[in-house]
Amino acid sequence: MTEPKANADGKLKGRVALVTGASRGIGAAIAARLAMEGAAVAISARTEAPGESRLPGTLAQTAKAIRDAGGAVHPIKADLSQASERERLVAEAAAALGPLDILVNNAAVTFFQPVIDFADKRFSLMFEVQVHAPFHLAQLVLPGMIERRRGWIVNISSGAAIHPKPPYGRGGGAVYGMCKAALERFSTGLAAEVAGDGIAVNAVSPGLVATPGVAVHGLINDATRHRVQPIKFIAEAVLRLASGDPATLTGRVAYAEPLLKELGVEPAELIAGL
Ligand code: NAP
Repeated sequence: MTEPKANADGKLKGRVALVTGASRGIGAAIAARLAMEGAAVAISARTEAPGESRLPGTLAQTAKAIRDAGGAVHPIKADLSQASERERLVAEAAAALGPLDILVNNAAVTFFQPVIDFADKRFSLMFEVQVHAPFHLAQLVLPGMIERRRGWIVNISSGAAIHPKPPYGRGGGAVYGMCKAALERFSTGLAAEVAGDGIAVNAVSPGLVATPGVAVHGLINDATRHRVQPIKFIAEAVLRLASGDPATLTGRVAYAEPLLKELGVEPAELIAGL
């Protein structure tokens, strides 16, 4: 089998994208998929090089995989819990690659704990990274998108946004659900606000995907293994929402597999190592 390669003349030829949380997991796969379609991709996370995180995956590894496949990539280390870092991230991405056409808000830090035990510090950090950062990054990229009358914002949500129903399982996901519900409502609200500006705003809700983050929480076990979703489904869904017609494909909270079925597309294989 030939290795998937970047196609400089792909769907995203000439486009510039910023993908957050791209040192590992879903963000790394999204960055690769956008680069394979010819986008120049700024990738961001806190972990630049090995040894900086207890989890596998670094910006350097994601960048190398994309470059080895012929793609254009620019890694930027940034902590999204800090407003000043978010400002620097967008400025640096634009300085390196040009005005941003696509923003993918994927980064997340997640703690699963019962409400009664949930520490304030963790609550604030989750809302800062999962809700405030996507909001602020959108504020930072929107003026340029509005000026150029084109742009695509994709926020990565979760099924946790949906209200739980009996029979109830294990608790601990209330704050994660609150963050993702806020992110979904932000996505549809912003979509309505910028509908006349040529800008699409959508959310993609992944199923259960095997990533370093999921491994930490032990979410894949005998009871859940059957519903694990290949990472390429999420990457493909994001690509489609980041390249669709903003006049018709906006304001959606899209579940990856049904969206691909609706659009009649099969997910592409990702470049090696991502
Ligand atoms: P993951 O493996 O835990 O990766 C999370 C990414 O976010 C990493 O690149 C991490 O990089 C980055 N990040 C965390 N805190 C950050 C901070 N303060 N500043 C900058 N970057 C930060 O997560 P994942 O499983 O790939 O999930 C990606 C997205 O999909 C998340 O929004 C998650 O909620 C959503 N999702 C995942 C699943 C699933 O089953 N995997 C299901 C539904 C939804 P550094 O640590 O290097 O900073």
